[in-house]
Amino acid sequence: MVDKLRAEFPFFSFNPKIVYLDSGATALKPQRVVDALNFYNTHESVNIHRGVYQLSQRATNTVEDVRKKAAAFVSSSPEHVAVFTRGTTEGLNLAAHILTSTKSNLADFFASYKISKTPAILLSESEHHANIVPWQIFAQERGYKLLYIPVDSEGKFNAPKGFLQSLAEKYSVRIVALSLQSNVTGILHDLSPYRTFADEHGAVFVVDAAQAVVHAPHEIKKLNPDFISYSAHKLFGPTGIGVLVAHKKVLDACDVYQGGGGMINLVEHEKSTYLDAPGKYEAGTQAIGEIYAFGKALEFAEEYKELIHTQDINLREYGDEKFHNAQIRFFGDGARMRSPIYSFEIPGAHAHDTGTLLDEQNVAIRAGHHCCQLLMQALKVSATARASLAVYNTRDDVDKLIDAIGYVRKIFRK
Ligand code: PMP
Repeated sequence: MVDKLRAEFPFFSFNPKIVYLDSGATALKPQRVVDALNFYNTHESVNIHRGVYQLSQRATNTVEDVRKKAAAFVSSSPEHVAVFTRGTTEGLNLAAHILTSTKSNLADFFASYKISKTPAILLSESEHHANIVPWQIFAQERGYKLLYIPVDSEGKFNAPKGFLQSLAEKYSVRIVALSLQSNVTGILHDLSPYRTFADEHGAVFVVDAAQAVVHAPHEIKKLNPDFISYSAHKLFGPTGIGVLVAHKKVLDACDVYQGGGGMINLVEHEKSTYLDAPGKYEAGTQAIGEIYAFGKALEFAEEYKELIHTQDINLREYGDEKFHNAQIRFFGDGARMRSPIYSFEIPGAHAHDTGTLLDEQNVAIRAGHHCCQLLMQALKVSATARASLAVYNTRDDVDKLIDAIGYVRKIFRK
């Protein structure tokens, strides 16, 4: 089954020697995704929405069909719609803007917006910078307090008893924005207490699903977040496209983000009126070919759903055993639920040196802070080496990684 799946990825024919262990940064793309992008550019290549001719209408239908699939992939709610974005980061910037704007009418949907205590946004120390910096930018400007769930030295959430209660006494927590899965440790956090907290206090529950979308889309659905942001490129799709999924009525009630063509009803000299959501958040020409390819990525992920899940378990079980046997410490070991992502340290070797030496062995991993500087502080390291595995990886790839780490250790005599 994995062989059949691997055959769909042209990367392996062009790079037969490389052991690709950097899918947390971006997943490889199957041929059908590449073909869809090519198909748009060669066969249709026209703009959407405004064309009166058949080709343009056909392209519009394809894009609208992908929009529905992208929302349905992470949400069971028929009320949820997808706004196309450039990726998770842009989706979270959009959410941060509209959820803190005084021009958004959120009090009709979320009771916390009626409370006059200092408004606050609850994040965690394990967040990717994409789910910290946008909130900081708007919090500073709009008088919101930023609160963080602490994490322990393994990267697990570590809120003291009564933590949420004490926050609720002091602040009006209007937004709870958390990543379901860490890109550093692969830990799938249990967000259900925070989901309940958001419900009980009338807060908006936002999920950064950049990593979870590939490993655990069913967990995202179970949480039923109010806002979900993810990128196509972590899900075997192209770069530069993603979605922010949210309730249509909430999006209708919120402030616009960027102005321009394609998002208006009527433009006058002094002011304009806007389309309903999702159109009002999609100014300018969209990445149409990428949306076609995104559709094929969603189809691929749906088709191989079972295998993606079983490979996650297979590779993690095998990987954990190999790391334990070789006595290589990795962060997040023993977490409740984890995908096969290994952030590790070789004593005496800087993560970047480890990465370079692994590359000499044709093993491609990532090294650095992984856009998670607050998490690095909690883990008490400045950087880690990270191997992130996906469905197309094999046990043989894990063996090659362990052998290559052995080579690094020999050099550093550790
Ligand atoms: N959040 C998490 C957890 C991520 O892993 C990433 C990508 N590494 C992002 C957000 C940002 O995604 P993108 O760069 O596709 O916008």
